Amino acid sequence: MRTFRTGRFDRGRLPGYLRRICPNRAVAEVGDIDPSQLRNAGKKLVLLDVDNTLTAWHGEDVPAASSNWIAGLKAAGLRTCVLSNTRRPERLRRITERLGIDFILGRFKPSPRMYHQALEKYGVRPEEAVMVGDQLFTDVWGANRAGIEAIWVKPIALKEFVGTKVSRLAESMVRGSLYRVLEERA
Ligand SMILES: [Mg+2]
Repeated sequence: MRTFRTGRFDRGRLPGYLRRICPNRAVAEVGDIDPSQLRNAGKKLVLLDVDNTLTAWHGEDVPAASSNWIAGLKAAGLRTCVLSNTRRPERLRRITERLGIDFILGRFKPSPRMYHQALEKYGVRPEEAVMVGDQLFTDVWGANRAGIEAIWVKPIALKEFVGTKVSRLAESMVRGSLYRVLEERA
């Protein structure tokens, strides 16, 4: 992806239709999200996307950066759960088993359904959860609809599902507007 920028978004400055798909933060990789910082911000549950967030799309290899980060989340006392609408549940099972994390398989994001299921399952309030994913129109939008903070991660690989390519086109059209309220770190 060209010009992926990182930092915090001042969402309040956006009109409603853009705020819906605007994350709270953008990071270059999951390892840039500090588990203790999440903990200190009152987070208890980290919801995760898999494809292009933790692994390359279609692949089953989990990069060390992802598995080390997951280990860090657990060490910080955070619960973790993957939210997925994959058509390959066996692959999801193998990946999550390897990482030692739970998953919820459900309806297409941005339906808020899986997010609500996760909050209920772990007994946490929306503000105590955070969603980490690589897509604005699925991961981030769904989280916003459920009142959950979202962290947008730069996608790991460029090779993607055809539906995702459509979503990326839509992302490329709104990215400029979102970046206008981005506060980049020095
Ligand atoms: Mg993804």
